[in-house]
Amino acid sequence: METKQFKAESKRLLEMMINSIYSQREVFLRELISNSSDAIDKIYYKALTDDSLTFDKESYYIKVVSDKGNRTLTIKDTGIGMTKEELENNLGIIAKSGSLAFKKEQEIKDGHDIIGQFGVGFYAAFMVADVVTVISKALGSEKAYKWESHGAEGYTITPCEKEAVGTDIILKIKENTEDESFDEYLEEYRLKSIIKKYSDFIRYPIKMDAAIK
Ligand code: ADP
Ligand code: MG
Repeated sequence: METKQFKAESKRLLEMMINSIYSQREVFLRELISNSSDAIDKIYYKALTDDSLTFDKESYYIKVVSDKGNRTLTIKDTGIGMTKEELENNLGIIAKSGSLAFKKEQEIKDGHDIIGQFGVGFYAAFMVADVVTVISKALGSEKAYKWESHGAEGYTITPCEKEAVGTDIILKIKENTEDESFDEYLEEYRLKSIIKKYSDFIRYPIKMDAAIK
């Protein structure tokens, strides 16, 4: 198994981001939920023109699951998923933002938005996690793949099992240090309030163990 290197710019940008935007690190959840919502949108728009695909509202949602014992926070979606190539191309290069129109909308909502501007949305996960694992199965694909990264070092991609089409993002939440606690990102009430604050406009259900929307 080969560990691939991030592009040089990516490495610098990732380090800069992880080290300098701590004051608003709770926005990692907004970034991951907006990616999940975009991924469900992609199936929704495909279904409009593809008769073999039906979009029944019950089957499309985002789910946030916290596991204090394992110190993981998982953001699951039933969106379009990513192929091996897409994992490589979409998560291997930072600041190659796709959804510009969406970003504009976010900027209006939040005022000045540094993370949004640089298009480093996904990497915001590293503000709270020291390992990020992405398990994804693309629509129309039989195979699933696991993308995993410990941060600026690079990432690995390996085949794995996943039943349903969609993506699971698993964050290994950082250990507390003397002056910083990350435990709040495993607390359901805290996660709910972050979701309420930043993701209230998302048009798909965001589930937790207890439904919040
Ligand atoms: P942006 O959303 O601005 O494109 P991000 O860094 O947030 O930038 O995400 C990079 C890309 O990774 C997305 O454009 C998308 O192609 C892919 N991606 C991220 N999360 C998901 C997901 N949950 N499902 C499918 N694709 C995703
Ligand atoms: Mg994004």
